[in-house]
Amino acid sequence: MTRADGAYLHAADGSKLLDAAGGAIVANIGHGRVEVADAMHKAALACSYAVPPWLTPERERLLERLRDWLPAHLTRTHLTCSGSEGVETAMKIALQYQAARGKPNKTAIIGRTPSYHGTTLATAAISGHETRKRGLEQALASYSRVPAPYPLRQSANDVSRYCVDALEAEIVRLGADSVAALLAEPIVGTSGGALVPPDSYWPEVRALCDRHDMLLLSDDVMVGFGRTGKPFGLDHWGVPADVLVAGKGLAGGYAPITGVFATEAVGTALDDAGLNVMFHTFAAHPAACAAADAVLDILAREDLVARAAEVGATLKAALKEAFDEHPHVAEVRGRGLLLALEIVADRQSLTRFPLADGITNQVVAAGIRRGVVFYPGGTGPVRDIVALGPPFTIDSADVERMVDALLAAVNEVVGA
Ligand code: PLP
Repeated sequence: MTRADGAYLHAADGSKLLDAAGGAIVANIGHGRVEVADAMHKAALACSYAVPPWLTPERERLLERLRDWLPAHLTRTHLTCSGSEGVETAMKIALQYQAARGKPNKTAIIGRTPSYHGTTLATAAISGHETRKRGLEQALASYSRVPAPYPLRQSANDVSRYCVDALEAEIVRLGADSVAALLAEPIVGTSGGALVPPDSYWPEVRALCDRHDMLLLSDDVMVGFGRTGKPFGLDHWGVPADVLVAGKGLAGGYAPITGVFATEAVGTALDDAGLNVMFHTFAAHPAACAAADAVLDILAREDLVARAAEVGATLKAALKEAFDEHPHVAEVRGRGLLLALEIVADRQSLTRFPLADGITNQVVAAGIRRGVVFYPGGTGPVRDIVALGPPFTIDSADVERMVDALLAAVNEVVGA
């Protein structure tokens, strides 16, 4: 790729691709915004680097702006570069918080399947994502995982009850005295393919965390800062997290920056016990903070979160219509502009194509041949997921192109 503007990528051979994947579901405001590049340029000239704990004007401006975005109860901010570092920091904060309160035995962090939380040893270990653990299984720490709501494939009458009960059973099995936190994506990203839980799920999980004195760690790395049509994932259910991690959309792909946001209670417990959250050398980089500040400004000024909800609903409706009767598409799902298609061998029995067929990658390749980039999802056992996460700025012509290209790509690979 030599250039990108708006929702389009330009390749060295002169071809032009519609970026329906937003890179890796990152490019929320679209590519090529001059004012973001200008802000980074200015920041780099002013101060190329300062150790993360020190304030710079760029850091102060970003912290100030974040107040307009974050739920009021999340008062503490720690910045990292990647989402993996951010999630791992949230896991460490949960352990430090419990130790600070005199509960050092609360060390278990429960994850869910499917899920993806990152590429470090701890975040890979807790992820419910088989293919991203290949060759590491023998060394990864063992974490408990419970099912995430996956209504298409869970036969229970009440999917929410089934999943909440499974979580409670796991807490009881481990002993609540040993459980520090639950780590979960509020809407599962591309690992599960935009899995939206039933409405009762999150309020019940929150109540369970409170009852068992556990923290709720919300991994908003993919959905944070507006992708699903609300600022953060749990906003759809009015449920508060104790620690929230949001990365990709924070600077919309212009710079590597992720926020770990915690409650005052969590921050105070660490302060009182004299515990620190260690910084990464390149965290809160002045130019990255300047980029994030400019991106959040554009999102607010152009009302792009509302636009993600609106265009997302239009795109989802168009996809549903296109694939309504398709014999190899089990479901079109998602919220806002995090959408996914689940392709199956048989729509009635929901039987999947063999993993070795590599249907997902074939469909993504067929999309690229038609000038549109889609995002390959799934975990191995969960497949064949093709995800969409375009910039919030796409127009109705882009929506049409995506739907036409995806239908043609799916038909080419698995037949109509
Ligand atoms: N958590 C979620 C939900 C993600 O989607 C990702 C990346 O896709 C991560 C964590 C890891 O983020 P990064 O790739 O920036 O390390």
